[in-house]
Amino acid sequence: MNKKLKFETLAIQSTQLPDKTTGAVATPINLSTTFEREADGSYKSGFVYSRAENPNRQLLEDSLAVLEKGAVGFAFSSGMAAITALFNTLKSGDHLLLPHDVYYATKVMAEMLFGDKGIKVETVVMSDLKAVKKAIKKNTALVWLETPSNPQLNVSDIAKISKMAHKVGAICAVDNTWPSPVLQRPLEHGADVSMHSTSKYFGGHSDVLGGCLILKEKGPLAEQIKSIQTLTGGVPSPFECWLVTRGIKTLHVRVMQQTKNAAKLATFLEQHQKIERVNYPGLKSHPHHKVAKKQMIGGFGAMLSVQVKGSAKNAMKLTGRLRLFTTATSLGGVESLVEHRKSIEGPDSPTPDNLLRISVGLENVEDLIADWRQALR
Ligand SMILES: *Cc1c(COP(=O)(O)O)cnc(C)c1O
Repeated sequence: MNKKLKFETLAIQSTQLPDKTTGAVATPINLSTTFEREADGSYKSGFVYSRAENPNRQLLEDSLAVLEKGAVGFAFSSGMAAITALFNTLKSGDHLLLPHDVYYATKVMAEMLFGDKGIKVETVVMSDLKAVKKAIKKNTALVWLETPSNPQLNVSDIAKISKMAHKVGAICAVDNTWPSPVLQRPLEHGADVSMHSTSKYFGGHSDVLGGCLILKEKGPLAEQIKSIQTLTGGVPSPFECWLVTRGIKTLHVRVMQQTKNAAKLATFLEQHQKIERVNYPGLKSHPHHKVAKKQMIGGFGAMLSVQVKGSAKNAMKLTGRLRLFTTATSLGGVESLVEHRKSIEGPDSPTPDNLLRISVGLENVEDLIADWRQALR
């Protein structure tokens, strides 16, 4: 594939699997778990058994690598399976540094599965470079970023933190779920690994779970991830791979339009007297707007959160008055969603009580703004 092609073209080209026997243009789904072996012991297609590799997953993984400008991609059955696979490369004595406001399940999983195995799990305010510098130690093996972060939309500097990590021989990985590769490509800023929950923008229709890791380089880490992926078996089915590759075809146009809608909604909400604060990195008032502008391309994403004046109860009530925003968890689909995040994350979460997280969809933005106007009146 000509990698000089633009993103939209690559997205279409990299997800085509021409079927030589039928000439079918749409990619077929190969459900077979096993593949025929030749009398000389070889495999004609290179495929052996579906846990290790299969045609639909191969297509998806190659496409992911192309779109993120990486060397190799690995698809998993969920975002959490992808993160766990990377954390599984850590050894006893290693130090793992996470953002204090990281995706809640990432923190809970790290502490539960790795905290007792001699891995020191620590959190830091990742948008504060001085704090990060202090927190990185000789035994730091992995610095995990999530930018913009969930649900407070804090932004951390990928280039600067990657450099700091590399100084002690650590890997820098970025949860790039929220911006998607349309708006941010961490590997181009020095990160070693980019991770996605493909359940979100890649799938795009809230009907498939998936996750992935994309590595900047082939080599020992990639080989280790491949082994973990195959041996632990947290892989997506051919149909799930097919749904994600299908989502990739419209990823750019969806993310760009949803981002435009989000920027307009954020501007409207920022001016509303009943809103205390809008967290959206595209706003000039956002404390990390400059860093976001430096590392994001063409927009600031379709996720935002608002802090409503008054109590948590007040914020919760507001979700019931919205008609076009379904109250539900998750994000990245074509439909707009709203969620009171603290009550999902639990009492230990650092999320403010009055915060509502908004995933802006593909509806007409004037309708979306009118809905908030009536709900806030
Ligand atoms: C959803 C999400 C995850 C987890 O992905 P799953 O596919 O639900 O396992 C991780 N990080 C972020 C930022 C997410 O939004």
